[in-house]
Amino acid sequence: MKKPLLTIAAGLLLCISSAFGHGGVELGPNGGRILEFSTNETIHGEVTLKDGKFHVAVLDRDMKPVALKDQTLIVTGGDRANPEKPKVEKSGDHFVFPALKGDSYLLVVQFKEKPSTKFVTARFEYDATICSACKNAEWLCKCGDKKDDKAGKKK
Ligand SMILES: [Zn+2]
Repeated sequence: MKKPLLTIAAGLLLCISSAFGHGGVELGPNGGRILEFSTNETIHGEVTLKDGKFHVAVLDRDMKPVALKDQTLIVTGGDRANPEKPKVEKSGDHFVFPALKGDSYLLVVQFKEKPSTKFVTARFEYDATICSACKNAEWLCKCGDKKDDKAGKKK
């Protein structure tokens, strides 16, 4: 079940070069990165970055915000050889944790809906590099689809 981390990094490189049909990044109602927080698309996370802190909103299947009650979030990231676990706090209906050092690193986000359910693990590569096509940072770049369309890629 575990995807090698390299696969994810390679996927992002494909987004940049857009050589293949890469789906791009799914963005949420607030322009954040959508993560899958369930095994059946009923819960999503939307990650945004503000003032050096990541905010994670919990969204339902219709991308509507869900109030934070019993949900738990654990974040691991940074250098793979020496990963950090930034402290995650609840602020209103967001989880909030400080951004790590550097402009590019992997974040592993573990979400638990309530104490009786299992953790669901989502990952994404934070990359602050600005995409030349959409002017978003690469971790919020959804050019995968559009670039393919322009290229008139056929199968
Ligand atoms: Zn882009």
